[in-house]
Order: sequence, then structure tokens, then C-alpha cells
Amino acid sequence: MKRKSFLKKVAIASAIAPIALTTSCRSEEAESGAPNIQTSKKYRWKMLTTWPPKFPVLGEGAELFSKLVSEMSAGRLEIKVFGGGELVPALEAFDAVSAGMAECSSSAAYYWAGKSPAFQFFATVPFGMNAQQVNAWLKGGGGQKLWDELYANYNLKPFAFGNSGVQAGGWYNREINSIADFKGLKMRIPGLGGKVLEKAGGTAVLSAGGEIYTNLERGVIDATEWIGPYHDYKMGFHKIAKYCYFPGWHEPGTVLELFINKKKLESLPTDLQRIVEGAAAIVHDWVLAEFDAQNGIYLQKMKEEGNMEFRQFPDEVLQQMRTFANEVVTEVADANPMSKKIFESYDKFRKQITPWSNMTEKAFYNQLQQ
Ligand code: CA
Repeated sequence: MKRKSFLKKVAIASAIAPIALTTSCRSEEAESGAPNIQTSKKYRWKMLTTWPPKFPVLGEGAELFSKLVSEMSAGRLEIKVFGGGELVPALEAFDAVSAGMAECSSSAAYYWAGKSPAFQFFATVPFGMNAQQVNAWLKGGGGQKLWDELYANYNLKPFAFGNSGVQAGGWYNREINSIADFKGLKMRIPGLGGKVLEKAGGTAVLSAGGEIYTNLERGVIDATEWIGPYHDYKMGFHKIAKYCYFPGWHEPGTVLELFINKKKLESLPTDLQRIVEGAAAIVHDWVLAEFDAQNGIYLQKMKEEGNMEFRQFPDEVLQQMRTFANEVVTEVADANPMSKKIFESYDKFRKQITPWSNMTEKAFYNQLQQ
């Protein structure tokens, strides 16, 4: 913006601000067409989540959002958080918010892959981008615009609401020395990772969160993935599995999301809309930091208390899994034109950023950090 034009806008803003405040009780719209600041009107929202109530990091992130919005708006917007199943079943959150039964929800986009495979690109892609890279795509590489476009079809506006970072590769009661070791392996692994496992000859098993421990202990499944040391410790997998493999090729940086009913968001005065965006950005930052901080602590605890081994997947195993993953991602991209458009943006960005990441982040981890 040119300096002269900027100064003119500042002058106009200063001039209308007092008027907006004094007329706020009478009119929804200022003469300029912009929504007024209505200090008296209070909004009460319901926020769904796809997590159990108070779930570490993810449920806490939703509670933090509610607290921040309440404090930043001086109580003009209050958001009551519901755990998955408290108001509607967890996996009905998307439709409920789309229909306006609740105003918003926190979640992860891969839960909605049944609507269109395109949703997967806004959660995680096996062998895809990590937290830092996918963040750069969303915020600086056109990803958010595509996300907005996809969700606008459902009357929703999405926001990045944290990231898990690279997840653990999973808990195994069988050694993985070659790709043949996946043959007949029964593993609880959802989404695209499960499809990759099946290409390698394994069976992807669905288990509800509460049943995974018993299924692994009794040999109903040979392996499971979950999240990372903090959450996996609380599940107790280190007590019953022989090996924890890493890295989590299937979830290299799962984006968490906040989606808001678009009409409800747009009906808020502008300042409350900015408060919602600002609070979401704070939570986005907090969630990844909390994952990293807690995972460091709990990895140490597992090493001290667990009777199991940490193992790295052999390079040749990962190379072959990458080939299977490329086939799976190509199938997702070919599902429909929107999926193709999002994949092309995602893949182009990944190829652009990788040489830079290799020269800096990867070199730092490999050569500088001990
Ligand atoms: Ca996982």
C-alpha cells in the first residue's frame, strides 16, 4: 500500500471509530458497510470435538481456545466445549457444524475422507510433509485457500489448530527386518497408512481407542500405531509390546483443525472474528509445542520404565513403503478434480521446499545436533 493511501485509511479509521462505538446499540452495520463493534451483544457458542473429553493436548487445546476467546472478548463470546459423544457422536461433528447445530469443532481432516479423499491432504499424507513444511504450504503456499474452497462447499471455514509433529512408527510384537515381515501383520492403523500397509501384505484392523491395549496384549493384533510417547505412555503400550519402531512414515505431521460454521462466523462483529482467528493461531502454536515438550519427557520415562526396544525401520523397508505410499496417494489424487487440484498444489510445494529443508533442517539434525 502506498504511504499516502495508507495515511488516508488511518484518518478514516480514526474518524469512524467513535461513531461506531456510540451507534453500536442501534445498528448492526456502520454506514461504511462494516459490522460495528457491539460491546453489549453477547454470543454463546457450542464447540464440538472429535476427542474424548479433556483428551491430553487435543482436548486441552479446545479448552484453551475457549478460555482465550472469552478473555480476549471480555466475555462477549463464550464457547462451551463438548467432548466427542457428549452432544453428538464424535464422527458426526462435521455434519453438525455444517448444519449449524453447533458453531464449531476441533478435529483432524482425515476423519472426513468418506466425503471426499481430498480431505486427507489437510491432515497428513504418508511420506508427505512434516509440521513445519505443511504449515508453510498452508500459510505461504496457497494451501489455506484450497482448504477454504473445499470446506466452503459445506458452509464451513477451516483453521489450522495445531500439529502432532512426526508420530511414532508404532508398537510391534514382531520384528520388522524386511518388507516381507509385513505379510499377514494385523495392525491397528487408520487412513492412508492402513492402505499402504495392505499393499505391503498386512491387514489394517479398526479398533476403538479403548480396545487397542487388550487387542495387542491378547494377540488379536500384532501391532498398533497411536500418536507419540506422551499419549502412548498413557495407553501403556510400552508394558506389552516388544518393539517401538520409528519414524512414523504414515503420519509425518498431522494437522489438527478448527472448523467454524461460515454463516455463524461471518455474523460476528469484525473484532470478534479477528479474536477467533487470533485465538486459533495461539492454539495452533501451543499444540505442536506441547506435543514436542511432553514427548521428550515421556520418551525418557519409557526408556527408564519400559521393557521394550526402540528400533528404527530399515532404510530398504521405508523405500519400499514409499513406493506403495506413492501408489496410494496417486489413487487419492485421481479420485475427483478437487482432489487432483489439491494434490498438485501439495506435491509441487513439497518438491519446492524439500531441497531447502534438506540443506537446513535435515543437515542440522544429521550433522549438527547430538
Ligand atoms: Ca496416529
